[in-house]
Amino acid sequence: MSLLEVENLVKEFGGLRALDHLSLSVDRGELVGVMGPNGAGKSTFFNCVSGVVLPDDGQVTFDGNDVTGDSPEKLAQTGMVRTFQHTRELETMTVRDNVRLAAPDQSGEHTIPALLHTDGMKKQENMVRDRADELIEAFELDHLADEYSSNLSGGQRKLLELARVLMLEPDLLLLDEPFAGVNPTLTREIADRIRALNDDGMTIILIEHELETLTELVDHLVVLEQGRLLVEGIPDEVLSDERVIEAYLGE
Ligand code: ADP
Ligand code: MG
Repeated sequence: MSLLEVENLVKEFGGLRALDHLSLSVDRGELVGVMGPNGAGKSTFFNCVSGVVLPDDGQVTFDGNDVTGDSPEKLAQTGMVRTFQHTRELETMTVRDNVRLAAPDQSGEHTIPALLHTDGMKKQENMVRDRADELIEAFELDHLADEYSSNLSGGQRKLLELARVLMLEPDLLLLDEPFAGVNPTLTREIADRIRALNDDGMTIILIEHELETLTELVDHLVVLEQGRLLVEGIPDEVLSDERVIEAYLGE
């Protein structure tokens, strides 16, 4: 059964149709790459799926439920989490705090438990702290844990963002250009992380402009053009498709 099903998604900005009746489905456990020329609607597709913008028409089904228009927070609670093309970490916080604060249900937010500061709450705080430390270590960010995020390189920020979304323990992870502006060494590292997460069962959809990295990594490729699905299939087939070659050369 598909984990994500998108049917006839339409999104217009003024007179411009960014998504034009886009339909596609992703099975649980898949690692899917989304490519397409600039302006093809890739980020808008993520925005509509993840509740960042409301589609004008169409339906998004996640894990069997209609989630069209649900907020990103609500979707995160049900297991769908996304990153942004431009990283959104808080630059005035340290790496460690950025990861910790990504955790869901920060009990301190609830007035009564905060006043009582119960044992349960302390336990939860400790769990968050431990998980954050684990992720920081796993992503080899330990030597940067106390640095302000503003001091990180572009690639290190992408790693930090990945660590942050993993605090939410997603079933479906949407990554918008995780390799953009990242040097080749870190690109390989991030690609390895993505593959390992997928091997552990996480369903992942990633948008990428850099074809080489993408085609080596994914099982399935989807090509968008002008808000529509141009071609989809296994990477080798998709890349040798005349329509895809034309769309890329025609840029
Ligand atoms: P991609 O990620 O494939 O490069 P986008 O989804 O970002 O493409 O954009 C698709 C089209 O929609 C582009 O022409 C873009 O300018 C337009 N667009 C995207 N978001 C907005 C927005 N918030 N307001 C106006 N136009 C937008
Ligand atoms: Mg984009």
